[in-house]
Amino acid sequence: MSSSMKDLIAEVIAKNPAEPEFHQAVREVADSVALVYDKYPEYRQAKVFERMIEPERAVQFRVTWVDDRGEIHINRGFRIQMNSAIGPYKGGLRFHPSVTLGILKFLAFEQVYKNSLTTLPMGGGKGGSDFDPKGKSDAEVMRFCQSFMNELYRHIGADTDVPAGDIGVGGREIGYLFGQYKKIVNQFTGVLTGKGLNWGGSLIRPEATGYGATYFAAEMLATRGQSMEGKVCLVSGSGNVSQYTVEKVLQLGGKAVTLSDSNGYIYDEEGIDRDKLAFVMNLKNVRRGRIKEYAEKYKSAVYTPVDGKAACNPLWSHRADCAFPSATQNEINDLDAQNLLRNGVYCISEGANMPTTPEGVRIFTDAGVLYGPGKAANAGGVATSGLEMSQNSMRLPWTRDEVDKRLHIIMKSIHKTCVETAERFGTPGNYVNGANIGGFLKVADAMMDQGII
Ligand code: NDP
Repeated sequence: MSSSMKDLIAEVIAKNPAEPEFHQAVREVADSVALVYDKYPEYRQAKVFERMIEPERAVQFRVTWVDDRGEIHINRGFRIQMNSAIGPYKGGLRFHPSVTLGILKFLAFEQVYKNSLTTLPMGGGKGGSDFDPKGKSDAEVMRFCQSFMNELYRHIGADTDVPAGDIGVGGREIGYLFGQYKKIVNQFTGVLTGKGLNWGGSLIRPEATGYGATYFAAEMLATRGQSMEGKVCLVSGSGNVSQYTVEKVLQLGGKAVTLSDSNGYIYDEEGIDRDKLAFVMNLKNVRRGRIKEYAEKYKSAVYTPVDGKAACNPLWSHRADCAFPSATQNEINDLDAQNLLRNGVYCISEGANMPTTPEGVRIFTDAGVLYGPGKAANAGGVATSGLEMSQNSMRLPWTRDEVDKRLHIIMKSIHKTCVETAERFGTPGNYVNGANIGGFLKVADAMMDQGII
């Protein structure tokens, strides 16, 4: 990395203290952008990347709500509007106690490049709250969502900023948020994606991130003349992305053997078949229970609780071919990365955002395995959100088959962009550079066209 890029990273750290995930995300893209700056100095001159790391707007607000016992709670709400050069801000809302300004800035930053890669006209944003939906009643979640939207509505709109779901924000939350938005502005617009099917949602949107990450893995395997058929897959998480990853792995002839939540993970050597997956979907989406119950129901599975003091996660130490980290950021560290390689994994497709630490990423890229970073591999979710926006604008729903076909085409196109861009910039097979640079160039060119703003 050039000394000017090193100075820039130092400045980012000094200006954004206590935001390590944001520093990590910027540093990773900076490594790739340095290759662009060397080849095309006009981008450096226009300080395009320097502008990209500063959010266009960041809003923080108070969210107050009353629980079922009458107690008042105060949470923090955020919306980061990172970049609108190629379209309205677009990115999910995360409700999780770990949410901070820095976490959302890292996610919004990543979103800019991801959205650019989808080929659709979407800028990047992200938002959320430190509210924890776990253990709350439906009525409490509704009151929280309504209070959150009482402020957020001023900052969003179908042509301004279109939020979606993320960790802790699924169909139930999107419903409450949409209802409140509609009540306040008295308009039925496509202001959120991930909506219910009978009120503007798109078929395949719930499935899209997991399906997309699996299509991406299949594309990577195809570069080595292989397919998903017979592949043993490690999947982390047990939420939206994980569930539909397991479903698509099954459809393509593979076998998923793990799932997790924040308390522990299950290993089912026989594989998670359709019936077991239906059980997980009911457990997680309806009963809102813990993954431990899987091992209580299926004797072929072993449950291992999280050991907070362990240096690595045993989920990543089982013999397998592919890994789909689909829970949260930095869930694969250097030891986990080594364990994965040692146990035969050679294809990693990231359903989660930035699930691998920089040391882990280096281990994968040095080993020359197929490593699809989240920006590219999990872009199917936002791509299908983009398709939901198109259908809303047309007021015309597409069939399941139509949306799935488009999603598949988009994932193939993202893969092609990654491969060709990595090669063009002298790092063949490096999907990290391919995704970062591929995403960067489209946004950078739009920013150059639109002047110094
Ligand atoms: P969900 O809330 O549906 O599921 C999240 C899963 O990850 C749960 O099993 C949860 O367990 C687990 N998890 C969350 N935080 C932690 C943690 N700190 N430690 C251990 N486990 C954790 O979220 P999604 O499936 O939607 O999102 C998963 C990942 O995919 C996130 O990184 C998200 O940003 C990314 N992503 C999601 C997209 C989407 O369309 N939904 C699109 C692109 C990326 P528990 O229930 O115990 O908290």
